[in-house]
Amino acid sequence: MTRTIAFIVFLAATVIWFIIRHPARRGSKKTAVRISARTPREKILMAISLTGLGLIPLAYVISNLANKHFNFLGFAEHPFYPWLAWLGTLVFAFSLWLFRRTHKDLGRNWSVSLDIRESHKLVTQGVYARVRHPMYSAFWLWAIAQALLLPNWVAGFSGIVGFGTLFFGRVFEEERLMEQAFGEEYRDYMRRTWRILPGIF
Ligand code: SAH
Repeated sequence: MTRTIAFIVFLAATVIWFIIRHPARRGSKKTAVRISARTPREKILMAISLTGLGLIPLAYVISNLANKHFNFLGFAEHPFYPWLAWLGTLVFAFSLWLFRRTHKDLGRNWSVSLDIRESHKLVTQGVYARVRHPMYSAFWLWAIAQALLLPNWVAGFSGIVGFGTLFFGRVFEEERLMEQAFGEEYRDYMRRTWRILPGIF
């Protein structure tokens, strides 16, 4: 594993991520929304997350691949350890697997933001059986993989900061929305599940 290969792994993971998400994005346009909690605050949180998980690392990776000597985040560079990058690749693979599973299980109930759709069903099966936000678990894994793969304090850790901001700003709102829509059914589901990591949170 070299630095360049680590960058290519990051790009490949991004492409796979888009391929996994694409059908859900198309499908979501066909299913009407009944209640939406897309507040301006929620939109800002999404922009912060997109910047940290996507824009900063991609700008870093692509500019580095294009020209090794040009590094606009050069001040934040740190040594590259192949074993860390291997570990990052493994975490990426697990993240993408989980991401695919969550999309399969959520189906038409998925939204990029906070929406309750017409004929929205509460999913409690598959990867949703023990954890109620497994897609966010997958994003946390992505952010960790990014930090392990990219030898740069800014481009590596911007994912944890960016997604962390969205996660803590959104997850309680989302649970309130779900409770509003599903009442006792959701409260019951909350009692028997964890948020992102069984036994911890
Ligand atoms: N927080 C979940 C889903 C993210 S997608 C996860 O991390 O896996 C966000 C949308 O999914 C929101 O519009 C929310 O209303 C919906 N949602 C969240 N949990 C759900 C569930 N268990 N069943 C059905 N829809 C759910």
